[in-house]
Amino acid sequence: MAFRSAQFAGLMVINYLIALRGLRPAASVKAADFNPQGNFFLDDHKPCSYAVTAMPELPEVETIRRDLLPRVVGRTITHVYLSPDAPRLVRWPSPAEFCRALPGQRIEAISRRGKYLLFHLSDGPACRQARRYLIVHLRMTGVLLHRDQDAPADAYLRAVLALDHGDELRYTDFRKLGTMWLTDDPHSVVGRLGPDVLDQAFTVAVLRSLLDRRSAPIKAVLMDQGALAGLGNIYSEEALFLAGVHPQRPAKSLSDDDVTRLHRAIGEVLAEALGHRGSSFRDYVDAEGRQGRHQWHVKVYRRTDEPCYTCGTQIERVKVGGRSTHFCPRCQK
Ligand SMILES: [Zn+2]
Repeated sequence: MAFRSAQFAGLMVINYLIALRGLRPAASVKAADFNPQGNFFLDDHKPCSYAVTAMPELPEVETIRRDLLPRVVGRTITHVYLSPDAPRLVRWPSPAEFCRALPGQRIEAISRRGKYLLFHLSDGPACRQARRYLIVHLRMTGVLLHRDQDAPADAYLRAVLALDHGDELRYTDFRKLGTMWLTDDPHSVVGRLGPDVLDQAFTVAVLRSLLDRRSAPIKAVLMDQGALAGLGNIYSEEALFLAGVHPQRPAKSLSDDDVTRLHRAIGEVLAEALGHRGSSFRDYVDAEGRQGRHQWHVKVYRRTDEPCYTCGTQIERVKVGGRSTHFCPRCQK
């Protein structure tokens, strides 16, 4: 009950803040929303408008993982709440089974594979061998927040995992494209991903072998999660700029020097973005609700017609694989 009264009080604050912005409130709790498992659902109202957003990529997901490690590892899930308004959130098993199976599970570890977060779950302190995995993909606007149960309500709340010390993992998602799985076989979800770009196994030779087989533009290959896991629009553009490689070049046309520079650039761009705790162009916030800072440090992403920091030439925008792509026509060949 404490959860509901806190939600109500918080909702008043959220309603006020959202009214100031001309938007409608995102979530409200109704007594009729309790389901047969004793968990309750959250009502939702459609937002009025939305603009193109930047999707969380490896640095954003990894920042959330590192934030959550000291806060939730070793903790036991006590209750689960799911919004009926996001029926596509839980991909496996059914929402009812998801709510039934998670309470009592202890979080033993959190790992990451590309843009996926994996919560390793055990049956409890007596048997701490992880047997199940809660896998989360934030997609476009998903956010994972660690909150005290008495904290004000969060807008666009889709799911809550209540934890044993009176705190919560809250999942919010404006566009409702995020996905979750509860499975004993994580390979069934992340098995088709290419090598993670932060994994030590991702070497220059591995990148070379990935590109040799592809005539698609290098930018499209870098963003193909089946080839390479973790890069999206922002960091593939930034890495190509740093490497001096034109985003439309066929992947297999890159020389050995190009591939070596690109491999190094990917590592440098990701390390810098992690240092800035990710990029917040619109929606991304970390597990405490704070924005990242890397959006102030990008060299080409969304800088159409602005001067290149290296040569002064105007940054251009083209479509690659259906996505807007920014580059310097002088620095990138
Ligand atoms: Zn330039």
